[in-house]
Amino acid sequence: MREDIRTMISLQEVMLKIKSLEDEKNAIPERLSDLRREMEEAEKVYQEVSAEFEELSKQKKNLESSIEDEKIKIEKSKAKLMTVKTNKEYFAMLKEIDTLKRLARQMEDELLELMVRYEEVEKRYTEAKERYESLKSDYDSRMEEIKKEMEEFDKDIEKLMEDKEKIASALQGPLKRRFELVFRRRNGLAIVPARDYICTGCNMNIPPQLFNLLQKEDKIYECPNCSRIIYYEEEKQKEVREG
Ligand SMILES: [Zn+2]
Repeated sequence: MREDIRTMISLQEVMLKIKSLEDEKNAIPERLSDLRREMEEAEKVYQEVSAEFEELSKQKKNLESSIEDEKIKIEKSKAKLMTVKTNKEYFAMLKEIDTLKRLARQMEDELLELMVRYEEVEKRYTEAKERYESLKSDYDSRMEEIKKEMEEFDKDIEKLMEDKEKIASALQGPLKRRFELVFRRRNGLAIVPARDYICTGCNMNIPPQLFNLLQKEDKIYECPNCSRIIYYEEEKQKEVREG
């Protein structure tokens, strides 16, 4: 067998190993996709309920401070009541205090109603926050593990890449480039044996004339159908008969 054929066969072996490790590595993050989806959904719920809770908190605070203002006004009016000189002023003042008190009571009722909603939303907010944070920490720690696993793959791949470069350096530039091109286009099978007038890459017939040339091994030939580099291999003795 020609030396360059032998080299390409081992080059292909190493490149296939690299390819399979890369495929395995790229499939790793997929394992987290369910957890990620769950986390993202929890995050969305958390953000929505957060906004709702924030808005309600603001309303609550505003209402509480308005009630406080009203109470101060009432106290002031009560103090003023002691200083009025005429009956007319006195009754006008009483009426004003009454109006202020009614307003304060109205706002207190509103606050009570708001508190019912506030407590309900606060509960949902706390639950959503806990759920999101627990999923997030779960996801982050799994991601950390996965990163380490991927780094292991990278180390193995790097080692194989060095082997690949070493082997490939024995090939002439144009042949090396041709090999790599076919490797990419033909999904990792660039060089295949031809047996019994058949290319084992695409299983198509090889013209007898070409098959005879192959046996001479005077140069590199390719399959006219799939363009893979082919080399002659004697038909293996059929130890297991089919059928
Ligand atoms: Zn072929």
